[in-house]
Amino acid sequence: MGPLPSCALGDVYTVPRGYDDWSTTLVDRLLRVEATYVPPDLMRVSEMGIAGGGSIRGVAAADTRAMAKAARAAGAPIGVWSGYRNYEQQTQLFNGYVTQNGFDSAITYSQRPGHSEHQLGLGVDFMSAGGGNPLPGDWGKTPAGSWMRENAWKYGWVNSYPRGAGGSRWNDRSCFRYEPWHYRYLGREMAAKVHASGLTIREYLWNNDTMLDRNGTLIAPATSMPSASASTSASPSASPSPTTPLSGTPSDPSVAATAAGPAVDPAKPAASGSGLGAPALVAAAAVLLGAGAALAVAARRRRSRRQVE
Ligand SMILES: [Zn+2]
Repeated sequence: MGPLPSCALGDVYTVPRGYDDWSTTLVDRLLRVEATYVPPDLMRVSEMGIAGGGSIRGVAAADTRAMAKAARAAGAPIGVWSGYRNYEQQTQLFNGYVTQNGFDSAITYSQRPGHSEHQLGLGVDFMSAGGGNPLPGDWGKTPAGSWMRENAWKYGWVNSYPRGAGGSRWNDRSCFRYEPWHYRYLGREMAAKVHASGLTIREYLWNNDTMLDRNGTLIAPATSMPSASASTSASPSASPSPTTPLSGTPSDPSVAATAAGPAVDPAKPAASGSGLGAPALVAAAAVLLGAGAALAVAARRRRSRRQVE
């Protein structure tokens, strides 16, 4: 394989991206998932024995619980500042940064919707337990930040955005600004491999697991894609999507307009049937409940303080 794609922006559907392919699914400036990508096993972090709020995938629960316990025992207790964000929340967040600082600046520290590890349910901005927002100063130098840098990989978590060459804040291997608080769950096996390689997550997955060539063209058949039915399970902030996610065919990287993605219309499933039988009514109720939960989450987000990727 040649060098990785540059940090140029694009909108190619990453492969693999099935919900079971969580440890090898890569999103970066080029690769993304659908707007309808909602992990089926979201779980409150408060049920994982760690401070803070929000949800992440249940596949990370046991390791996260063990990591929080170990950090606490080491005198460096950690918490979750920001976990799962759905496509709409990421859209609001990114657009807010664009409004504040302009697109060219925002894109260095916030991913466009579809490109965020937070949408995978596997990205977490950690904080010091009880310490609040990790952004001011260099969280990497706090006890919690230092402990995480040394130990998180043993529990399946790897820092996605380390410092760049010469200690610079911009890293052209991750194509992102230094974020000592942002970790990605890969599972212990994959995290150990990435840690041993000395590569960033982006480099490692591009080199070993992403089934696209450097131009974003499929080089191996995709085995599984997110299914629409998976998004109908009860999750705290998911609104069921009526649309079937796009097929495995990657989009043209030049089509930047796809960043907006298909709009999710929560009313559509109920309205699409000619007669509203009992199943349809149950589905409609589920949609309304899901929408309510999403609004509640959005309201909590608005109350929370500044956050980045
Ligand atoms: Zn983050």
